[in-house]
Amino acid sequence: LWERCLNELKKKVKPHLFKTWFKELKVISVEGNTLKLKAKDRIVKEYLEKNYLPLLKEIVFREFGRHMEIELLLPEEVSKPLQLELNLFQNKEKKKNVESNLNPKYTFENFVVGASNQFAHAAAVAVAENPGKAYNPLFIYGGVGLGKTHLMQAIGNYVKKKMPEKTVVYTTTESFMNELIEALRKDTVTEFREKYRTVDVLLVDDIQFISGKDRTQIEFFHTFNALYDAGKQIVLTSDRPPKDIPTLTDRLRNRFEWGLIADIQPPDFETRIAILRRKAEAEKIEVDDNVLKLIATIIKSNIRQLEGALIKLKAKAILENRPIDEELVRSMFGIGSSVKVENPSRSDISIDEIKQVVCEMFGITLEQIDSSTRKKQIALARQIAMYLSRKFGNFSFPKIAAAFHKNDHTTVMHAVTKIEELRNENEEINHIILELEKRLNLLVGEVKVEE
Ligand code: ADP
Ligand code: MG
Repeated sequence: LWERCLNELKKKVKPHLFKTWFKELKVISVEGNTLKLKAKDRIVKEYLEKNYLPLLKEIVFREFGRHMEIELLLPEEVSKPLQLELNLFQNKEKKKNVESNLNPKYTFENFVVGASNQFAHAAAVAVAENPGKAYNPLFIYGGVGLGKTHLMQAIGNYVKKKMPEKTVVYTTTESFMNELIEALRKDTVTEFREKYRTVDVLLVDDIQFISGKDRTQIEFFHTFNALYDAGKQIVLTSDRPPKDIPTLTDRLRNRFEWGLIADIQPPDFETRIAILRRKAEAEKIEVDDNVLKLIATIIKSNIRQLEGALIKLKAKAILENRPIDEELVRSMFGIGSSVKVENPSRSDISIDEIKQVVCEMFGITLEQIDSSTRKKQIALARQIAMYLSRKFGNFSFPKIAAAFHKNDHTTVMHAVTKIEELRNENEEINHIILELEKRLNLLVGEVKVEE
């Protein structure tokens, strides 16, 4: 989030000013409603306090979605307590050298945020900034190649960089299991436990594979408890939500649901383009927007395939000594000219229109949906309207919060998860939402891609 604030600042102030005053600002902590930043020295601190606090607050409000006080600290004010903690830590026990197993290429910086992954991303950032304190466990689920491993490892890389005294371990469920089997065979279970039950951040990828593995479930249950009780962070990913993982003991399923469950959806058209653009830059591939749009039209869900297509395209262009153009894409995918580039618009609906449609369906008034009454029917309508603003309209959480007169966008996040759950559990509600989506589609005159 802070990176985003910096980017906004960059747009707002002249480059030399940005470089002198803002570039080296670092986030120290978010405590309640106070954002603590570290300034390079006294001059920077005083200059910013005198001239830029309002602008900083405004941008922080927009990106964090809530009002925050900003406190600027000097390096000596920041590093002293930290140093003390470090010493304490080292005195208590010599830090063990555990292998983190992280791939440094998975960072928040190169994770493209779009409507489909914004929720999971925000949750991951919150966890990375406050391991053990924000959401525990964080459970991220979604289809293949949608960025679960990337986000999870980004948490690990972030913690390692910002809090080097913390130990982070990434493992797949499969290697956790294999390690356990090996430990049982070699009679080194104590070491195994020592390793997994003493980390500060444990990242376990593809936990759905624990299904049916009884011994591993028992061991993981105890690992989970040990870490959770000690306030350590646990992050899990899966291709489905806990309730859909078969043959999982209730006590584990139950624990997986203790913290926050965040889904990642397939990326929308604009996000696919943004990812392709980022990848093209990283790989130094010169490619036209039209070509990117065509690829994004053909590949709809798997981001790994999206990236793969670009690399293949480059190879093919070199091999056949041809330019990278639409022709080349069409020949690579073996498709004719009938597939047209998709039209990205969804800006053709407003939150007000969504509210209107929901009100009609529920037979309530706009005043009622905008009020803060907790009457069951109205509260439900309000939450559904929030959900549709997010899932159908692709609006950002802060925007939706503002449209519903809430000053805290976690209310909206809450509504979205709640309705998602309700949809799964309650056939009637699911039906109502399907009907609402149908009406909204009519309203925007949804056009399908010809194939
Ligand atoms: P999953 O674990 O969900 O199957 P991965 O995290 O392995 O998916 O992602 C597949 C590939 O797509 C990786 O190379 C990853 O870096 C990339 N990727 C996924 N989501 C994004 C994103 N939002 N921005 C940039 N790259 C992404
Ligand atoms: Mg993965």
